[in-house]
Amino acid sequence: MITASVQPRQIPATWQQELADAITRPQELAEALGLPLEALGAVAETAFPLRVPRSFVARMRPGDPRDPLLRQVLPLAEELLEPPGYGADPLQERAAQRAPALLQKYRGRALLIATESCAVHCRYCFRREFPYAAQRSEGGRWREALEVIAADPSLEEIILSGGDPLSLSNARLSALTSALTRIPHVRRIRVHTRQPVVLPSRVDAGLLEWLRSLSVPVVVVLHVNHPNEIDAALRAACANIRAAGATLLNQTVLLAGVNDDATVLARLSQQLFEAGVLPYYLHAVDHVRGAAHFLVPDERARALAGALASRLPGYLVPRLVRELPGAESKTVLTPASAAP
Ligand SMILES: *Cc1c(COP(=O)(O)O)cnc(C)c1O
Ligand code: SF4
Repeated sequence: MITASVQPRQIPATWQQELADAITRPQELAEALGLPLEALGAVAETAFPLRVPRSFVARMRPGDPRDPLLRQVLPLAEELLEPPGYGADPLQERAAQRAPALLQKYRGRALLIATESCAVHCRYCFRREFPYAAQRSEGGRWREALEVIAADPSLEEIILSGGDPLSLSNARLSALTSALTRIPHVRRIRVHTRQPVVLPSRVDAGLLEWLRSLSVPVVVVLHVNHPNEIDAALRAACANIRAAGATLLNQTVLLAGVNDDATVLARLSQQLFEAGVLPYYLHAVDHVRGAAHFLVPDERARALAGALASRLPGYLVPRLVRELPGAESKTVLTPASAAP
């Protein structure tokens, strides 16, 4: 028998394999970027350790310790500072809890913490100290939350959040949304996720099938902070999510040293739009312990929002918002007209 000599075919990794292969050691991250570890600055050991998928690292600029994607994931010694006014639960989320894993702050919509795990650990994350373990209810973690939702006809929209809800398997997601869509007053499902951004392979055939199977409209809110995060794989994932019938929006966190620049933010809006995603919110960083070095002062944030509004069509300008405990909605910070 004659066999052609062929190269073994490159078998695409599943997202689970890619997740398991994520970088968790600063030394390895430094090597991947062609930098000595010392060039990264003072790297800290924290209870919220480094975690970043390799496909996201591939979008960082080699040899640049100030890379905006690197800064989002690298645990620096600054995190260990504890300035006054920063706490573990800046949004007082514990007060918004209606059932284990179910938070309601605003009328008509409630947020379900579908899982605590994420593909990436974002250093500025406001849920980094959330007591997830205490959110597990006995006898199935969502049972009580589903009962509360079913008993409250005012809850028209359920937001799957976390952690990252797409850390759940397609089968688990499907089981959860089947239970939700059996509740007649649930009219919309929203998914807040960073997974398609940091791990585009997560948008696999099963996920798209799940999106297509949902009997109510779905909104997928991505979390992209910098135009360098948008590559061909993310654009393809977005096209597939849209083809599966979901509306795609984006929220960005305004981060000093990452995206606190009108040109960068304008490019982000334009490139999101070209990928079929509309900008939704630009969030002021929450006062969570460990994130003070990312804070952009309000005046500067408002000036950046004003500069964006002066450069872009209205539908490409995200609303600059902050979350204030006890407020009835996110609080909009009005754009300032002076150019920054
Ligand atoms: C941010 C948030 C929402 C969503 O608010 P929208 O303005 O509808 O995007 C809903 N519930 C909770 C608990 C939230 O923190
Ligand atoms: S993906 Fe979202 S929830 Fe997870 S660490 Fe990042 S910001 Fe936090």
